[in-house]
Amino acid sequence: MARYAMALDYKNCINCKACETACKEENGVLLGAQNHRIWVGTKEIEGEFPLLNISSSNFLPSQCQQCSNAPCQEVCPTNATYYDEHGVVRVDSDKCILCSYCMTACPYDARYVDDRTNTVDKCNFCSDTRIARGEITTACQATCPTKVRIFGDLDDPNSEISEVLRTREHFSLKSYLGTDPKLFYLT
Ligand code: SF4
Ligand code: SF4
Ligand code: SF4
Repeated sequence: MARYAMALDYKNCINCKACETACKEENGVLLGAQNHRIWVGTKEIEGEFPLLNISSSNFLPSQCQQCSNAPCQEVCPTNATYYDEHGVVRVDSDKCILCSYCMTACPYDARYVDDRTNTVDKCNFCSDTRIARGEITTACQATCPTKVRIFGDLDDPNSEISEVLRTREHFSLKSYLGTDPKLFYLT
């Protein structure tokens, strides 16, 4: 069974937001919704006009880190949050009682309340849409014009993500917490 993960060549991010829009469209989130599954963090640009230091590494695309040791899953009292067969952390909205324990427990602030269902939602690697259709791509990956995102199976040694993690240095966010994320930022 595949074990899905994503590598991000984040220094190539130009903050175009195409991934945010594609994610909303793919997953039925209202285009104007403030709360959604994916975002691009920005650092303040250094320097004074007109000598601004504008470098692409000012942008840090982020979303649920798909932790292998997920605090959100540990605290969920109804097992609404669970690992699926691909190691993806999912939310069963039928079991979610909106206690918000998971939102508090997540160190990445990756969860939000979905206005449509009044339950908690977050990125699930397009598991209800593309993965369910048998595709091994995500909407954010497919739409990114600068190829920031590489999605695939960690357990397949021939996958692009396995290859890139073998050959390029990378880090995970807040790895000191022991959450064991499956999002990898390429340096
Ligand atoms: S990033 Fe947050 S929501 Fe995602 S698996 Fe980790 S703890 Fe859970
Ligand atoms: S993998 Fe799918 S659900 Fe997750 S951020 Fe990308 S488009 Fe959104
Ligand atoms: S689509 Fe790609 S370049 Fe545009 S904001 Fe998202 S990650 Fe960055």
